[in-house]
Amino acid sequence: MSIDGLPPLREVIERHGLQAKKALGQNFLLDLNLTGKIARSAGDLSQTTVIEVGPGPGGLTRALLFNGARRVVAIERDERCLSALAEISDHYPGRLEVISGDALKADFSALATGDTTKIVANLPYNVGTELLVRWLTVGQWPPFYASMTLMFQREVAERIVAKPGSSAYGRLGVLAGWRTEATIAFDVPPQAFTPPPKVTSSVVHLVPRAAPLPADVNRLARVTEAAFGQRRKMLRQSIKSLGGEALLNKVGIDPTRRAETLGVEEFVALANAGTA
Ligand code: SAM
Repeated sequence: MSIDGLPPLREVIERHGLQAKKALGQNFLLDLNLTGKIARSAGDLSQTTVIEVGPGPGGLTRALLFNGARRVVAIERDERCLSALAEISDHYPGRLEVISGDALKADFSALATGDTTKIVANLPYNVGTELLVRWLTVGQWPPFYASMTLMFQREVAERIVAKPGSSAYGRLGVLAGWRTEATIAFDVPPQAFTPPPKVTSSVVHLVPRAAPLPADVNRLARVTEAAFGQRRKMLRQSIKSLGGEALLNKVGIDPTRRAETLGVEEFVALANAGTA
C-alpha cells in the first residue's frame, strides 16, 4: 500500500495494462511525493474544485485528493485508464468525477460549478500549449479558474514566463503576461517520468490578474502572431498587413523596433489602435 491506502502506481499500471502510448503524450508520474509537491503548489484546495486534464493512472489525481481537494473533475481520453480511476473514486466517495473524452472538446467553464476552481495538470505535451492559450484567451474575465498549475517541457515553461528582451519571449509570453502572473515553481527531471521524456519539465503556476489592460483578444493574438512570425524583422515590415508604419506611429512606437523589444502594454496599444 502507498501512503494514501491505495496500491502503488506501478502495480496499478501493471494490473490495468496501462503501457504508455506516445501518441497520447503519456509520461506518467509514479512518485506520490512528487505529485504531492505539484498538488501543494496549487495552494489550499479544501474549498476547491480541481479540474485535471489527463489523469492517466491517477498519480496526480490521488495527490490532489490526498492533499485535501474538495472535489476533482478529471478528463481523460484514454479509456484504458477508466477502471484504474474508478478505484480512486471508490476510495474517495463523492470527490472524484471522471469524464471520458477529449479535453480539446470540453467546455471547461461549464465544469466550474460555484466553488473556487483551479486547474492542475501534468499535460499531454501534444495539446498542452493549445489548452493553455484557450484558457488564457477565454472571453469572460475574471476567468472561471482561480489559478492554473501546469507541467510543461522546460522550454515551453520558459516561453510562458518570458519577459521582453529575451529570446524566449513571444506570443505565449505576451498572452500569459497580459492576463496572468506566471512563475516557474520547480523543475522535474526526465527520470521522474515513466517512460522518461527527452527533456526536463517544469511546473508553471499562473494566477489571473484582477484587472488586465482591456484589449480585444483576437486582435491581440493577430498582432503578436504577425510580429513574432517575423521576429527578426522590424515591426514596420512584420506587421505591415495590420497597418505597419502608420499604426506604429499612431501609438508612438518606433517602426524600426523588433517584436521582442515590445512590452505587453505596447502590444495591447497596437491591438486597440488597429482596425484589422
Ligand atoms: N496525470 C498523469 C500523471 O501525471 O502521471 C498522466 C500525465 S500524461 C503526461 C498525459 C495524460 O493526458 C495521459 O493520461 C493521456 O492519455 C491524456 N491525454 C492525452 N491527450 C488528451 C486529450 N486530448 N484529452 C484528455 N486527455 C488526454
